Amino acid sequence: MTKAQISELKAVLSTPKNIVIVPHRNPDGDAMGSTLGLYHYLKLHEHNAVVIAPNDYPDFLKWLPGDDTVLKFEAQQDESEALINKADLIFTLDFNAFHRAGHDMAEILATASATKIMIDHHQQPDDYAAYMYSDVKMSSTCEMVYNFIEMLNDSDKINENIATCLYVGIMTDTGSFRFPATTSRTHQVIGNLIDKGADNSQIHNNIYDTNSYSRLQLLGRAMQNLKVIPELKTAYMTLSQAELDEFNFKKGDTEGFVNYALSLKGIIFAAIFIESKQDHIIKISLRSKGEFSVNEFSRAHFGGGGHTNAAGGKSEDDMKTTIHKFISILPNYKQDLS
Ligand code: 5GP
Ligand code: MN
Repeated sequence: MTKAQISELKAVLSTPKNIVIVPHRNPDGDAMGSTLGLYHYLKLHEHNAVVIAPNDYPDFLKWLPGDDTVLKFEAQQDESEALINKADLIFTLDFNAFHRAGHDMAEILATASATKIMIDHHQQPDDYAAYMYSDVKMSSTCEMVYNFIEMLNDSDKINENIATCLYVGIMTDTGSFRFPATTSRTHQVIGNLIDKGADNSQIHNNIYDTNSYSRLQLLGRAMQNLKVIPELKTAYMTLSQAELDEFNFKKGDTEGFVNYALSLKGIIFAAIFIESKQDHIIKISLRSKGEFSVNEFSRAHFGGGGHTNAAGGKSEDDMKTTIHKFISILPNYKQDLS
């Protein structure tokens, strides 16, 4: 975003507007943290702002300040559509293409007359936004929302609610400040957010220490299913729908499981394959260490994308066929994986 564009936006935002803020489908900590953080900021300026999530999200995010104001497109379609159609501005946060908001919502976003503003750190963004703040080097969209508020010369307006929301997304997208996109600047932003009232220890508790017994049992099953291909530095696991049902699966329960596979000594590529009978797909999460790009891997073979070291994808084949495909592709990457 250029300086001129920032000035333009500052002028646009100087009088109250109807604003819709949208995270990606199946929102994670960064998606909900960034949208609600921006929501609290826009509220300070008397805008008529609302966060519309494409669908529901895990319970461990439902304590975020402002959570009770969030609309879910899937469940509140008419109300959501009306708000999108009368919006002056639509902020799309933490995603890079309309389809990431889900099929139905994508169409409505694409045809809405509002001025669109993208704030996002995913690779290869689509070109739909009049104002585009895209930076794939950023740790998180939450860090970018912080920068955005700073660019608008409003850092001093960051309050406890904004700080808490932004802290959540920086924390979750950096694996608690350990992934390579974490910079000294990330830590400086986090320090400022703590100064503005983010209760760091409580936030960690709220996000990570709310396991149910059944989730830990499901994690146990995923670990039992772990397979290692040492010669290709790859590890993967599977969870079938039957296994999810056995352990009373709830949205968000498998979040982070794939990282255990990546934590194995010597492993640089990890995957988890999770069956969804409802969506008729196998949902795939991919993680890597170093140069190997799971974004490219997912784009090439599993219809997804994301970042160099974290991406998602899907398969419409059954589990057995999907795993077979995965294993047979791997040797093509022998150079990168050994
Ligand atoms: P996860 O494995 O946690 O679902 O996703 C990992 C990262 O990749 C997240 O940043 C997520 O937003 C992104 N991602 C997941 N699925 C897709 C996809 O289908 N397309 C793109 N472009 N990004 C994805
Ligand atoms: Mn993100």
